[in-house]
Amino acid sequence: MIRDREHECMGREKLRQLQGERLAALVKRVYARVPFYTELLDKAGVKPEQVRGLEDLPRLPVTKKHNLRDQYPFGLFATPLKDVVRIHASSGTTGKPTTVGYTRNDIAVWAEVMARALAGAGTTDEDIVQVAYGYGLFTGGLGAHYGAELLGASVIPISGSNTQRQLMLMQDFGTTVLCCTPSFALYLWDVAQQLQLDVTTLPLKVGVFGAEPWSEGMRRDIERKWNIKACDIYGLSEIIGPGVSCECVEAQSGLHIYEDHFLAEIIDLETGNPLPDGELGELVITTLTKEAFPLIRYRTGDITRLIPEPCICGRTSTRMERISGRTDDMLIIRGVNVFPSQVESVLLMSPQVEPHYRLIVGRKGALDSLDVQVEISPKLYREVSEAVLSLNDVTMFTEHDALIDLKQRIQKNIKDIIGISVSVTFKEPGSIERSEGKAQRVIDNRTAEQGAS
Ligand SMILES: [Zn+2]
Repeated sequence: MIRDREHECMGREKLRQLQGERLAALVKRVYARVPFYTELLDKAGVKPEQVRGLEDLPRLPVTKKHNLRDQYPFGLFATPLKDVVRIHASSGTTGKPTTVGYTRNDIAVWAEVMARALAGAGTTDEDIVQVAYGYGLFTGGLGAHYGAELLGASVIPISGSNTQRQLMLMQDFGTTVLCCTPSFALYLWDVAQQLQLDVTTLPLKVGVFGAEPWSEGMRRDIERKWNIKACDIYGLSEIIGPGVSCECVEAQSGLHIYEDHFLAEIIDLETGNPLPDGELGELVITTLTKEAFPLIRYRTGDITRLIPEPCICGRTSTRMERISGRTDDMLIIRGVNVFPSQVESVLLMSPQVEPHYRLIVGRKGALDSLDVQVEISPKLYREVSEAVLSLNDVTMFTEHDALIDLKQRIQKNIKDIIGISVSVTFKEPGSIERSEGKAQRVIDNRTAEQGAS
């Protein structure tokens, strides 16, 4: 369902006009109200009154993540705290978090874009929406919550974790829409298997999954296991939270950006120059309507490309491809850029392994090494175990022909697609730690080793 036809199906020329007007007003507003932006724009030699439309966008300076940290906690707020009705914060990996604020109107906009996202994924006021994103300083839970309520759906605010209770409520309340991270959806399914619960008999029809990069292979896996449609949703607290963009259930091919509120560009990772539509680079977003915490050309750190072609669902909005990685997740292994999601998509080509994996990066001599640890499927594990037991030689397990063949095939596929040689280590089903939030996929031992030597 298209919730806001006027904005989601707007003619491109009219939209550019609207975005340009909003951009001009935004630049004036932050220049007058946020000392950081006064200085930044002065330094870039940009006078606010010279910014008239989208054509002036490339002249504007970018805002980086560390600018947000430097202004902790409220230095970038463009309204007095009196007008701020909500504060969220994203956990920093080091030191202080990043703080974001919302006026009453910002909260209304957030609920609206989240309602568009959920509606696009097939949610209506008849649905029962289980919000299994974390509630709290993290924006996932409350973002989905307000959007689903605005749609008129019945919301179950269960938050993250509580796996068995999640499954119980799905059965007892008849949940039809599940919102959580894709890795948690897989974990829930695992636990359902242990409880011998056949999830395909549940009324669940759609999952709206996000907050971490995932691959097309993982989508197919989740859809098959749960017998649902899985849609990708995108957002980040710096911009508003979830609800920056979302896939429509009709096409499931790129995430529709709510462009009347968020102006998206792609820039080159190295040079910072804008790239044409269709090219892969870093997503940069300008918030066009935010009051308390507006950002100009914020470098999200997410890698994607923009798809300008209209979609079969009828929306005219630009879509973004699913996030293929983060600039800060990007591993440089022997000089080659590697994203964990690329490895994941190769692993998911083999039904004999599970989408539970870990990348261990190390250094052997002068060379970087990458060991891909992945669980084999319970079925393959059973077959090999039985074969080895019948020979009465347990040391043979990892030497079994079926495993050696599979390992060589996966190693070759990774080499073909990513361009580097890796080792693959098989793990027993269930042995790789499960995540109830964002999955921890990479362990990079290189800096630790260097520090020790
Ligand atoms: Zn669409």
